[in-house]
Amino acid sequence: MAIEVKHLDHRYGEGTIFEQYALKNVTLTIADGEFIGLIGHTGSGKSTLTQHLNGLLKATSGDILYNGESIYAEGYSMKELRGRVGLVFQYPEHQLFETDVFTDVCFGPKNLGLSEEEIKRRAAEALALVGLDESFYKQSPFELSGGQKRRAAIAGVLAMKPEVLILDEPTAGLDPRGRDDILGLVARLHEEQGMTVILVSHSMEDVARYVSRLVVMNRGEKVFDGTPREVFRHYKQLEKMGLAAPQITYVVHALRERGIAIDEDIMTVEEARDAILALWRKNA
Ligand code: ADP
Ligand code: MG
Repeated sequence: MAIEVKHLDHRYGEGTIFEQYALKNVTLTIADGEFIGLIGHTGSGKSTLTQHLNGLLKATSGDILYNGESIYAEGYSMKELRGRVGLVFQYPEHQLFETDVFTDVCFGPKNLGLSEEEIKRRAAEALALVGLDESFYKQSPFELSGGQKRRAAIAGVLAMKPEVLILDEPTAGLDPRGRDDILGLVARLHEEQGMTVILVSHSMEDVARYVSRLVVMNRGEKVFDGTPREVFRHYKQLEKMGLAAPQITYVVHALRERGIAIDEDIMTVEEARDAILALWRKNA
């Protein structure tokens, strides 16, 4: 059940000369335990959509149901929703502001009104999950490396024990190593904690390795929704939206154009290698 987005529209600056259509008629169902990649060029509406899912932005029209209940219903607790749907912002370092890492991570659970003991327990647990040990507790968040800052921000959200974890471009600005670390961490949270995860990215290559479903946004609209394989078949249309399929997809299509009968659904270099070797053995 989890989240049902129904005909969601969002206009920024409604009724002013700055009015900007950011979401148009977006309909989307996210089931419990899914790992979804939300993809789109800059400005396509990804951040706007994610901020609706935890109630930070309100729809201009349309509805969002969380476990069957409209979050716009009278008396619905937005505070509770924000604890259940955790959002790590696009620039998570902006989410850090306390004097030390441990206090910072305590901020979320503190807002949930938990006991002092429970707050500390959760903060320690969350920091362990993201791989920041006790030597980081007293450090200023601003002294951390880029990747460590992201981890601390993720811990701050995890400490609320959310049912759904949304990460808005969590790897932006990190080097390849930092990127793989964060993506690996997210994949682990999904596998080990069974958490529903929505991973926002503008890079297909990044998310394709991890997610089981891709939702593609373009100019405020949902344009594709399917397995990575299904979505990559539209690689020519994706290019028109400023996106690209993984590089190996291009290699495979180039081979096919030269009459080589290789499976067009190949997504990874390893799959391509195996397919090419199999063809080569068959012809040898
Ligand atoms: P993405 O996260 O995919 O880059 P956004 O959701 O940030 O896209 O933006 C979608 C559209 O809404 C863009 O055209 C953007 O310029 C506009 N937009 C985003 N935030 C605001 C805002 N606070 N005020 C006005 N327009 C905005
Ligand atoms: Mg964004």
